[in-house]
Amino acid sequence: MPVAASDPVTALPGVGSGLAAKLSQLGVERVVDLLLHAPLRYEDRTRVVALAALRPGASSLAVGCVEHAEIRHGRRRSLNVVLADGAHRVRLRFFHFGAGQTNRLVPGVWLQVFGEVRAAPGGLEMVHPETRVLSGPADGQAPTDRLTPVYPTTAGLTQARLRGLIEPLLERLDESGFLPESLPDEIRADQQLPPLGEALRVLHRPPADADLAAVLEGRHPAVRRLAFEEMVAHQAGLRERRRRIRQRQAPRLVSSGGLLRQFLQQLGFEPTAAQRRVLDDVLTDIAGGEPMLRLVQGDVGSGKTLIAAAAAVAAAEAGWQTAFMAPTELLAEQHAATLAGWLDPLGLPVRSVIGGRTEDATRAALAGSEPLVAVGTHALFQSGLGFGRLGLTVVDEQHRFGVHQRLALRDQGEAGALTPHQLIMTATPIPRTLAMSAYADLDTSIIDELPPGRTPVTTAAVPATRRDAVVDRIAAACAGGRQAYWVCTLIEETEQVQARAAEATAEELTQALPDCRVGLAHGRMKSADKETVMRAFAAGNLDLLVATTVIEVGVDVPNASLMVIENAERLGLAQLHQLRGRVGRGRTESHCVLLYQPPLGELARRRLSALRATTDGFVIAREDLALRGPGEVLGTRQTGAVNFRMADVMRDADLAPAAQAAADRLLAAHPRLVALLAERWLDGGSEYASV
Ligand code: ADP
Ligand code: MG
Repeated sequence: MPVAASDPVTALPGVGSGLAAKLSQLGVERVVDLLLHAPLRYEDRTRVVALAALRPGASSLAVGCVEHAEIRHGRRRSLNVVLADGAHRVRLRFFHFGAGQTNRLVPGVWLQVFGEVRAAPGGLEMVHPETRVLSGPADGQAPTDRLTPVYPTTAGLTQARLRGLIEPLLERLDESGFLPESLPDEIRADQQLPPLGEALRVLHRPPADADLAAVLEGRHPAVRRLAFEEMVAHQAGLRERRRRIRQRQAPRLVSSGGLLRQFLQQLGFEPTAAQRRVLDDVLTDIAGGEPMLRLVQGDVGSGKTLIAAAAAVAAAEAGWQTAFMAPTELLAEQHAATLAGWLDPLGLPVRSVIGGRTEDATRAALAGSEPLVAVGTHALFQSGLGFGRLGLTVVDEQHRFGVHQRLALRDQGEAGALTPHQLIMTATPIPRTLAMSAYADLDTSIIDELPPGRTPVTTAAVPATRRDAVVDRIAAACAGGRQAYWVCTLIEETEQVQARAAEATAEELTQALPDCRVGLAHGRMKSADKETVMRAFAAGNLDLLVATTVIEVGVDVPNASLMVIENAERLGLAQLHQLRGRVGRGRTESHCVLLYQPPLGELARRRLSALRATTDGFVIAREDLALRGPGEVLGTRQTGAVNFRMADVMRDADLAPAAQAAADRLLAAHPRLVALLAERWLDGGSEYASV
């Protein structure tokens, strides 16, 4: 039996566990993955370049006769060979060579060489070119009429080995049943895309006259075809997952509305029109018998917590519990406090479940059937807690969680016959086409309005050399009754190192600001201590809060109007935007100071100026996407949908709507092809199978 595309690579002749391990580092596990391993670039060995026409910088195929060869014993021993073609010469240099090579490369021998040409003091040279001894000058034809792929690889795995594995598979593309076509003709015709076999052949072995720039930039129909197929596979996977969830029964959270009205009345402010609209979406969803799968996107400070709280009130009124999950302890604590403030007066209990031990009383309450709101980190579902009557789960700041954590929270409620409704909230606004790819399983509502009375935050970038001036500004702010944050950032350091840096900064600022009450919050502090500090800051009993990035998400103290971010050049745009979102929440004019270590690199400079130019999260997200790529914008590499191999969410954005339409068509009419796509691109569909 010939090796099948879905077999592990070890099924191929000569591939043992050592090679398989290396391939695995490249994401190549199965035979088909080799074919989906796209070259980084190509080398042109399709024409022999006359020595007179060699140009520095280009990798070229050349032919000549060895005129001279000698071993030099300079700083490094080297074999130097002069290759001649009439009046023109090129020097070949080898630093690693054996007796075989010295014996072969002797005057009078005709050689074909391939390598990068460099300009050296004595003329042009090639260092360690590939060489082939020819029988004579007439034999100097190009060995191939196709371009040669150069693949991404890993230590100990040569290009030759990779090519040797992939080449024979290309020969099998026309073999029936090896790699069946997965897109129906009519869909390919619509998009004017070539068949699969042809696309893969172009990708790995473009003809000499192919538009290489188009291949490398993904504009070539062959590459578009593969990207499109991958996008269809992901869309279909997510849609299928959505369909399966939708088939389940959810509790109908229908409320009389009395408690909800009471909740809205005692808020002390009017929900914005955007909040009302989104809340309507949510209330309509949860009143239905299908599980809600709704993503609420809203920029930092747009008031997402209110939506979740109102939904929880409606759930409680219908007799059901809500689990509210936040990504950090600090945020969970803060949510617990906010929700208690809103819900206690309604007689709806709020229970917090934050790491460590969960009190017996809380356990019992969750397992019981009385409505309540449980607020916590992922400890909510990791500690084996059971909910008696879970009707709604809320995941706040979803971009901070992995998809598995999100699913685990929902599965928590799966014990019963009913599936809880899911409300997912994110402050990372993402462009529509990216959302289409990443969240194809979710319905989306957008809070596109900030509560009234907010004054935009003014942002300045200040070099660390002017740190003293920044400290003076804090002194002035405190003297004026305003509050400030000082965020200490260290990238890739342990929490312990971060904590120590924050402690040192807090000490230094306490000295420098004798009239300021300085507090400290970092990830290594006990929950209770952190909470005490946060409460003191929120109550206005501290003027300056020195913190690590633990305060990045969700923290809400409206009187804080000055934010200093140290080493701002090291943070990503999204994170800076989140941090800045901690100020500008009240009526006082707010400022954000991005303190940086000069000199600024090009990327850092662009990030800081983007941040100064706008406070609009959507604009920032687009810039972030352009600067860093989608995996980072979405925070973690959680959604298979964004971790594409062939497709590029930005580059292929125009394909997203067609891919979605194609996915729906396949789901409706070609279930067999959906399975084939899942198997090919989604690793057997396991990414979505657990749902
Ligand atoms: P985010 O969307 O970043 O989670 P929050 O829910 O924390 O925003 O809300 C930010 C602040 O705005 C909170 O203090 C909240 O009470 C307040 N807020 C929310 N909605 C309104 C509104 N409609 N009018 C005035 N303030 C509001
Ligand atoms: Mg929030």
